[in-house]
Order: sequence, then structure tokens, then C-alpha cells
Amino acid sequence: MQIRFLGATGTVTGSKYLLTIDHQRILVDCGLFQGYKELRLRNWARLPFNAADIDAVVLTHAHIDHTGYIPLLVKQGFKGPIYATAATGDLCAILLPDSGYLQEEDARSANRHGYSKHHPALPLYTMADAKESLKQFKAVDFSKSYTIVPGVNVSWHRAGHILGAAFVQVEAEGKRLLFSGDVGRFQDPVMKAPEFMPETDYLVLESTYGNRLHDKTDPKDSIAAVVLETIHRGGTILIPAFAVGRAQSILYYLAQLKQEKRIPDIPVYLDSPMAVDATLLLRQYASTETHLTPEQCQMACKAATYVNSVEESKALDASGEPKIIVSASGMMTGGRVLHHLKNLAPHARNTILMTGYQAGGTRGASLLAGKRELKIHGETFTVHAQIANLNSASAHADYEDILFWLKHFQRAPRKVFLVHGETEAAAALKKKMETQLNWRCDIPTYLEEVVL
Ligand SMILES: [Zn+2]
Repeated sequence: MQIRFLGATGTVTGSKYLLTIDHQRILVDCGLFQGYKELRLRNWARLPFNAADIDAVVLTHAHIDHTGYIPLLVKQGFKGPIYATAATGDLCAILLPDSGYLQEEDARSANRHGYSKHHPALPLYTMADAKESLKQFKAVDFSKSYTIVPGVNVSWHRAGHILGAAFVQVEAEGKRLLFSGDVGRFQDPVMKAPEFMPETDYLVLESTYGNRLHDKTDPKDSIAAVVLETIHRGGTILIPAFAVGRAQSILYYLAQLKQEKRIPDIPVYLDSPMAVDATLLLRQYASTETHLTPEQCQMACKAATYVNSVEESKALDASGEPKIIVSASGMMTGGRVLHHLKNLAPHARNTILMTGYQAGGTRGASLLAGKRELKIHGETFTVHAQIANLNSASAHADYEDILFWLKHFQRAPRKVFLVHGETEAAAALKKKMETQLNWRCDIPTYLEEVVL
């Protein structure tokens, strides 16, 4: 059995692991690289294998950095099944076509403004490619074992990160290999806690927050403070949120704050067709994957006015009344949030409230680092709006959560591979695991291959 690390090494994006088991090839996650240009260029590089030779794809969860390469893999000749939990499949049906649309938009915009070196600039894949790839999805249930290719059994276990998110356990040749995907939190207000796993021989573990602890402040207190201050200045609060997961939690917090009369009843807009669809899916999976009662779920879904057309979206910035706009994408790499940024970021009365991890190289990371210039569609804007960060609302385990989860294994794995973290984060988690648990950890490099 061999594993090859084709992404999420030294970065949080591009998750893709190739397992070769007795000449059969399984790809665990199939994500896009995001952030720094040198990482994004890897999306355009030739794969180190033939897409048609992959027997099956297995997914941990729906986020684009774990699934966004699927349409391209299919375009390049992959014809096999894509196994994912039902909610992951439903979310991919929302996220992947949108990703194709964004790729087409980027190419169109580059051609219009002439800022690409390529003439004409082409999309990585289109919305039609993405829709085509959805036909290969096969839904699996949590906690059941499936023989996906002869001699290889795979099971999915609740990870608590977003709807459908799972730890993926692969069993073959008498060995167990566990992929953490993204680990959720143990005290999340919406998602049920991650499951404890009894044992594994090898563990491929995320390390996003390997060097950080989340702020323990109640996210509602932070949101209330930002909302009140911004209203006092007569401004608008722009909340770039991951369309899946964060956007719904934010709506739930806002609904509670209004109900408790801690913030005034100002308009809240959910301005992302994808986030609207994901919010509707929350109803479908609330009883199995979340803590929410049907009433709480209803309250979250009704917390905002859903914005449909691009015209309505653009009109939001024209009205001067204080309001809250929840829009995607969460790291401001694309989507409707960009035109809100163009209009709202130059004015000191407004606030941009970030709500989750900001990968290096993204506009979000640059704002967090104190930079006050933003480049959008080839134009540069100076940011005078207030910048706030809701670190406490993350959907990711911090290192205490990860260590807590690991301490529930009944024995140490033979080896742990730390992935899905920037260099310092992975190194910090490795040190903690070696000193506190006495576990062996490796940090694989891009394209490294290891025999198990
Ligand atoms: Zn994720």
C-alpha cells in the first residue's frame, strides 16, 4: 500500500491523497489549491498520473479545497464512482457548479480587463463540466462499511465540521488508515461533536490551527459589539462567510441576538445564492447532524432576506441604511462579496467582519495582516472600513480540540502524517503530539510518496 501526497502539504488547500493498493488507485479528496499564486498554478499543472486510471474517489467533505478539482478530473477522463455522504453530495451539487461559474467569471473578467498573460484566458473548468461530474457521485451512510474496490473497505464517521463532513477510514491488506479531513469542534453551537475513533494504524491529520487556540469569547458577544459600533457610525457590516457552514451559524447567532434584543432589528441580507441553497439544506439534515431543534433551525433560516439577482445584490450597497450583509466567499477570493468590498471597504463607517480561517495569499489574510490595499478585478482600492475577525466562530478544531480527540484513541497509530496546515502550524502540532502523546509524526512534502 502506498500513499502519495498531492496537496495540502505546507498549505491548507488542495487536499488530494493518492492511495495505491494492489494496483488499484483511490483518490481521497480532490481539492483545489487556493491562495498564493504559486499554489493556484498547481491547479493547472499536469497530474502525476492518468485520470482514467483512478478507480474511485472518496470524499471527506464538500469544501472546495477538498472537492474543487473533481470536475477537472472528470474532464481529464476519470469515469469511476465518487463516494461521499448524502449531505456532502448535496452540498457538492451546490458548490461545484458555482466553482465552475467563478472560474468562467475570472476568465471573462481577465479577458475584459486584459490582465491575464494568456490570450484568451480560459477557465480551469466550466459550470457545465461541474454539473457533468455530479453524475458520478454515490451516496454512503455514516458508520457503514463499503467495499469500494476489491479488497478495500471504506467507512465514514461524523467529523462535526460542516454538514456531511466525515473522517474516512480505509481498511485494506489488514491495515487501517484514517483521514481526518477537517476536524470540527467539540462545543459547536450548531454541529454535533466529532466522533471518537478507537484506533488506526496510520492517521492523516489536519493541522490548520496546530499553533493556535480559538478565542474563548462567546461569538455572540463579539458580533453584538461589532454590530452596535457600526450602527452607531451609520455604517454597514459586511460579513464574508463560507457559504456552507459559517453563513448558517452566523444567521443563527444574529437571530438569537435579535430575539434577545441585544441588537436592533436592522435588515440582514444573505447575499450568496450558494449560501441560500446551503441554508435550505440545513433543514434537511438538522435532526441528524446538528443540535438544532426544528424551531431553532427555522429561526436561523428566517434570520435573513435572501438576495437573488445580481442587480438586487448591487442595489444593497446603494442604500445608506445600516444593515448586515452576509456574503461569500469567506476568504474574499471570489463571489458577490467582491463588489460589496469595492463599495463598502473605502468608507470608515463600515466594518468587514471576517468569520473563519484566512489562507495565506487571500484578500482576507492580507486584511488580517494589516494591509489596507485590496486588488479586485485588476483595480486597487484603499480600505478605510474597520476590520474585525470573529476567530471564536471557527468551524475548525484548534490544537486543544485536536489533542482532546487524539487522546481518545485506544493506542497510538504507527505513524501520523500531518497535512492541511501552513508550515508553522504543522510543525507546532508535531511538537505537541511528540511531547504530550509520544506519537510519531511526519510532515510530508508535496508529491512525496510513502510505502505503508
Ligand atoms: Zn473544510
